[in-house]
Amino acid sequence: MKRLVLLGGGHAHVYVLDALARARLPDTEVTLISPYPRQIYSGMLPGWIAGHYHIDETAIPLTPLAERAGVRFKQARGIGLDLDARRVRCDDGSEIPFTWLSIDTGPTTASARIDGGMQHGIPVRPIEDFVTRIDALIAAANADPDCSAAIIGSGAAGVELALALRARLPDLSLALIGSTALPLDGLPGRLQRRARRLLDARHIRWIGQRRAKAIDAEGVWLDDDEQVPAHHVLQVTGAAAPDWPALAGLSTDAGGFIRVGPTLQSVSHPVVFAAGDVAAYADPRPKSGVFAVRAGPPLAENLRRAIAGEALLPWQAQRRALYLISTGDRRALAAWGLLSIEGAWVWRWKDHIDRAFMARFSQHGM
Ligand SMILES: Cc1cc2nc3c(=O)[nH]c(=O)nc-3n(C[C@H](O)[C@H](O)[C@H](O)COP(=O)(O)OP(=O)(O)OC[C@H]3O[C@@H](n4cnc5c(N)ncnc54)[C@H](O)[C@@H]3O)c2cc1C
Repeated sequence: MKRLVLLGGGHAHVYVLDALARARLPDTEVTLISPYPRQIYSGMLPGWIAGHYHIDETAIPLTPLAERAGVRFKQARGIGLDLDARRVRCDDGSEIPFTWLSIDTGPTTASARIDGGMQHGIPVRPIEDFVTRIDALIAAANADPDCSAAIIGSGAAGVELALALRARLPDLSLALIGSTALPLDGLPGRLQRRARRLLDARHIRWIGQRRAKAIDAEGVWLDDDEQVPAHHVLQVTGAAAPDWPALAGLSTDAGGFIRVGPTLQSVSHPVVFAAGDVAAYADPRPKSGVFAVRAGPPLAENLRRAIAGEALLPWQAQRRALYLISTGDRRALAAWGLLSIEGAWVWRWKDHIDRAFMARFSQHGM
């Protein structure tokens, strides 16, 4: 009996589960290890905060998906690998053996880099914890008119979360801190300027070209020693790698992400596959759900081929991704390469894409 272990229920692995539900692998026991029985879809998280979705609408239930795929669901967090013995070590003390291992655990938040971040910050990952803490923030803000919050990180996620919080909490004192002159670094300049004007119009204080160096109970300390008072500090500082892949001896890039070749196999351990934000592709791409989703079908196909002893197929991610950034008011900004647009119809388009993605993996979508 061969054993395939899927570590993490991320965007690529839900495709693998979907593929297994359609065609199971002969003589293979498949186990999904995930700390939570559902996968919250980050693309709809700002919409949940803004009040556009119920949390259940943003979550893919993993247990029924695994059940339909004939996959054993193990609720645990992987905390280490023994690559010689081919075992995944879990946080409940158990060890899960594998013949083939596929890793799609996503990134962690780079909170350790800011002093006090672990104690006083609200990291965006794990998203389940973030959701609980946002619920608490909303309750606190509704109870206290002087409540304040700051968000560290002004990429697409930081901007979306700031605008969503504003939509939900019109009176919250809110600041967005970024290290660049304008928010949405890397996206078209027109969109950056538009985002900046939106922050002003929504009374969100923009603090650009500054770095947060510490968080304490009073707020955020910036690199020039200015303090930004805040009762709640959200950390949306980008994707960092978990430490256990490198500690296990997997080949990783300088950031600690698992280096994979075009077949999505680890360059050091071909029985290990990785996809999504935790992977460092041969031809690097930004850390983005779009690329994690796109890796799903080739990952499913290559896992099937590996187990059948067939030749694997090379895959290369598309060059560009479409960025859709909701602005909290059922409107959205979009960027494709140098092109950018915005409007209510852009939000409806995003809403349609997101709901279609969720429907595919829901009970009725199969
Ligand atoms: C607020 C926000 C909005 C975003 N919006 C977009 C967007 O609109 N479009 C876009 O392209 N990208 C967006 N992103 C980025 C996107 O979230 C990530 O790029 C994407 O989630 C990466 O997918 P993944 O499959 O690699 O990992 P994830 O989606 O993070 O999934 C990883 C899964 O593995 C589980 N896991 C984690 N650690 C372990 C472990 N040790 N053992 C077992 N399981 C584990 C997690 O619980 C999770 O279920 C957004 C990010 C944020 C924070």
